[in-house]
Order: sequence, then structure tokens, then C-alpha cells
Amino acid sequence: MIVNHYYMKTFLYFVLLTLFSIFANGQKTPLVEPPFWWTGMKVTELQLMVYAEGIAYTAPRLVYPGVHLIKVSKTGNPDYLFLDLQIDQDAGPGIMRIDFDRDEDVRYVYEYELKERISGSAERIGFGPDDVILLVMPDRFSNGDPANDNMPGMLEKADRNNPDGRHGGDIKGVADHLAYIDEMGFTAIWLNPVLENNNPKYSYHGYAITDFYKVDPRFGTNTDYIHFVRDCHELGIRVIMDMVFNHCGYGHWWMENLPSEDWINQWPEFTRSNFRSPVNSDPHAAEFDKTKMQNGWFDTNMPDLNQGNEFMANYLIQNSIWWVEFAGLDGIRMDTYPYSDQEFMTRWMKRMRFEYPDFNIVGEAWLQKEAITAYYAESENERFGYNSHLPSVTDFPLHFAADKAFHERETWTEGMARLYYVLAQDFLYDNPYTNVIFPDNHDLSRYYTLMGEDMNKYKMGLAFFYTTRGIPMVYYGTEVLMEGEEHKGHGYIRRDFPGGWDEDEVNAFTGDGLSADQLEAQQYVKLLQNWRKQATVLHDGKLVHFIPEGGIYVYFRLNDTETLMVVLNNNDKPVKMPALDRFDECLKGERKAFEVTRQMKIEDISTILVPSKSSLILEIE
Ligand code: CA
Repeated sequence: MIVNHYYMKTFLYFVLLTLFSIFANGQKTPLVEPPFWWTGMKVTELQLMVYAEGIAYTAPRLVYPGVHLIKVSKTGNPDYLFLDLQIDQDAGPGIMRIDFDRDEDVRYVYEYELKERISGSAERIGFGPDDVILLVMPDRFSNGDPANDNMPGMLEKADRNNPDGRHGGDIKGVADHLAYIDEMGFTAIWLNPVLENNNPKYSYHGYAITDFYKVDPRFGTNTDYIHFVRDCHELGIRVIMDMVFNHCGYGHWWMENLPSEDWINQWPEFTRSNFRSPVNSDPHAAEFDKTKMQNGWFDTNMPDLNQGNEFMANYLIQNSIWWVEFAGLDGIRMDTYPYSDQEFMTRWMKRMRFEYPDFNIVGEAWLQKEAITAYYAESENERFGYNSHLPSVTDFPLHFAADKAFHERETWTEGMARLYYVLAQDFLYDNPYTNVIFPDNHDLSRYYTLMGEDMNKYKMGLAFFYTTRGIPMVYYGTEVLMEGEEHKGHGYIRRDFPGGWDEDEVNAFTGDGLSADQLEAQQYVKLLQNWRKQATVLHDGKLVHFIPEGGIYVYFRLNDTETLMVVLNNNDKPVKMPALDRFDECLKGERKAFEVTRQMKIEDISTILVPSKSSLILEIE
């Protein structure tokens, strides 16, 4: 630990030397964040964080048409200043010079760039029910550039033999395989966080950010990320950025010299969060538990950010807007949503939806039950006493239900009834159709493992996720039956995608070396995901489901022009199609259909057998 600390300090010194490099006339350049901004934003205020030795002893000054310095704030730490700017709507793009004077000398100068906002930026459309999201852990997908596996100044070196180490995957690796991703039928990509994680260990997963404005050099550069987004857009693939407001990494540069004591939530001794998110909505919750939940640290290497600090609050809000504008994002996935100050999160959401009305943001709400999940979702009538304005939440209750349902015999509450009961509680949401639904993710045992490595259950479960309400998200490698149990360690559920490294013997991108089962699974995913792109009834159709009977769950998706019928048979034996009269409010007497998974026409669906542990996806003619 001591050694690591030494390296951290050395590295910080190196960074500061670079940042404080001598400006043309002997003045120095402070660190300023956000490093640049845009004209033409709907919100005209901008707050700059300025960091340099003794900067608080200087008087900042700027002259730029349409820009006004309206407030200068100090924090008690002489090395920080916060500048509030007003950028008038008619201010033009350009370089705005900010002088920092002391004793009639200019001590620091920052040439602040105001870029022209890209036209249409405010109207961007976020990801939605017409998408299937691919979740990729960039360190574990493909090593597009072995030259960046180890980078100067970065503490952790690549070690592909260590399940918890860095394996060398990067942004280029994902960019190189966009054709595969597109052909598989994915229409959106969520990468686990790509920002710098300069921590001595466990830096690969990305959730301990040490620079909120910089892509980790082992993943690539900011420019690489922007080019990646552009390449995705050329294929019609949306990009969702994973952001973390709750905590930073211990190696963040500001940890050596905090703007103020309350910049992070500090405790007399290390105090971990109790991880009990239900306290936020619990009417009986003790303040002690609530405080520990929100202000306790996520881990020893993840200091808890204090969003109650006004400067921190502005810092985070502006950081998210900066990435949306800079990279051209189509969505945000916000990590550990319940762990941050909820008043702040609501304020953030209001700002984002004011700036981008049709954007989408999904909050990770890892909760067991429906109500305590819905508590975080948008609620116009403030049914839980407030409106979070959050358009989408992660639907963990549906994941847990699907994890159990396919293994169980049918009872009043088990088997297919589990799925039914989760969806029957959708009255809790303003719009359950925007919930992100998923068979597994980077924190859970792999889906194929959860299905007991049973191909029938695997296929039936996927059919359910592709056709029920919500926005399906599929974790990389699901399509080639990657397995792994969470309790053995996260490294085992985040293994390298086969074929992502030159030396790999199996290549899932080309199919070389895949087993027959893997090829079959890959074809199945490809078929359904590509079909789903065109199945507009899954994008905007309502869900009508029927109470499961005898292990058969039947539901419909309906819009003005299309009727889709899904039959899931959870029995270990084939079952005759149930009498269709019961479904007539949806079927309207029709009997002809096209079955999607088998790609065949059926003249009369009333006569067919539903094979054991399987689904029928019927486009009713
Ligand atoms: Ca690499």
C-alpha cells in the first residue's frame, strides 16, 4: 500500500508539472474543469472549477462578448476557485481568455474554449423499446491495440492470467467488431465506464474513476471514444455511457488536496455503506441507517462524493452534460442510483431533461422488489411523494423472477406465475415499457449458468426478454453461452470474449472453434434480435397477458396494425395449444400465424403442440 501511495504521489507530481507548464509570458495554466464548453445551451450558467497553487489569492478577470463573470467563490482551500459565468444566448464560439491577477501581475492564464453547439443536439433521441442493448465490459471484449495495454503513469499493468486484473481490451477492440455487433442485431451499446481508473488494483471494471474528463489511456483517448460513437451512429447503433456520481476512485487527483473537507463524505474511521437501498423509501427507516446507506463508502478505494456540496453538485451535472455534447451520446446508464443524494439526483434529472427532452437515462436500481424499484422511476403524479424524473430503471425484479421461473413446477406463485406477478405490478410505473430488462449483467451469474446450461430454458428465457415489455439488454458473450458463477468472483462472470485476442484459439466473431451448441445459440440470438428490429409492435405495442395456467403463459403485444402472440410452455412435456377462445379479445378469431423462432407458417394455431420448455412467437396474420 505504501509503495502504491508513493507511485500515486509521483504520478500526481508529474501531472501537476504538465498542467502548470509555463505559459507564453511566464504565466502558468491552471487546471480548469469542465475544460471547455458550448454556446447555445439552454441553461446559460456555467461554473468552472479552477485548480492551481494559491489561485484563491488571485482576482480572475475576463473580457468576452456575451460572457459575464458573475461570481467568484472560495472554498477555504487556497488552491481552488469556482467561477460562475453567464453565457448569453447570443454569445459566439471562440477562445475566451481568463486572467488571474495578483499584486498587479497576471499569475495564471487559461484560454477557455467556447465551442459551437452542434445543431440538433438538444433534440437527440435517446435509446428506447425499439433497441436491444449490448452490454460490454471493454477490458474483456477485444484487445484492438496491444500497445496501450500498459501505459506510462498508469499504476496497474496488464495481466491476462489474473481474473481480477486488466486483460488489455479497449475501445478499438469494440470498434473493430461493430460489424459483428450490428449483424447480431444489437442496436445500442452500453460500455462499462471508460474513464480513467488509475488505481493499483481492480482497475479494469471502470467504476473507480480518477478523472471525470478523461478516457482511461489503456482504453484509448477521448478522441477514440468520440470516433467510436461516430462509427456506431453510422451503423444506426446508439451509445449509452456508464456514469458514476456516487463515488470516485481513491486515486483521483483531488484526493491529495480536496477543495473542502465536505467535498466527499468523511467518517472518523472507514465506514462502508450498508448497501440497504430500501431505507430511502422506507417510511420507518432510522436516520442512522439512511445516513450510512447514502454517505458510507462503497468500498475502501471508492470515496463517497458529497452531492450536498453545491460545487460538487454542479461539477457532476456539468460533467454529464459535457460528455453528452462532446461524445454525442444517446443515453446514460447511471451507476448506483439509490446511493447518491436523491434530492440532488432529481435536480440532475430535471436539468438533463430540460437540456435534452427526448434523451434517455437508466438508473441502476438494484432492488429485489417492484415497489422499491419503481420508487426511483419518474412519477408525474408524485405517487411516492416526489417525482424523480428518471425515465428508466433497471428491472431487477423481472431478472430475479426469470432466474427462478423456468426451473420451477407451477404453483399459485411459482413458475410462470413469477413473471406474471412482476408485470402485474406495473401500475407502480408511469411507463414500464422503458424499464431496462435483462437476463443477467456484469454483476450477476451468467445467464446460461443461471439456466442450468439448459439450451431449452436459455432459449425460452431469451424469447421472453425479447418480447415482453421493456428495453432488453444482453450481456456480451450470452450469445455464445459464456458461463460463470458470481460467487466465485467477478472475474469469472467477466471472462474474455473468445476471439477478442490474437492468440485466442476460439473465435466467436468468425465462429471458428465454437461448439455446435454455441453456434446454435448465436444463430438464435441473431435471428430474434434482427427480427425484433422490424417488429414495431414490440417498440410501441401494449402488453396484454393472461393468467398462467398449467405452466403455460400466454401474452400478446398489440398496436393498431400488428398482433403478436407469445406462448411459453414451462412444462417438461409438450402441451397442446390451450383453447383459443380465452384469448379472443386479442386474437379476434384469427388462426393463421408466422412462427418466428422456427420461421414457419402455421395455417391453424389451434391444432399445434407447444414443445416442452419452449416458446412460440406468433405473428398473427
Ligand atoms: Ca489494449
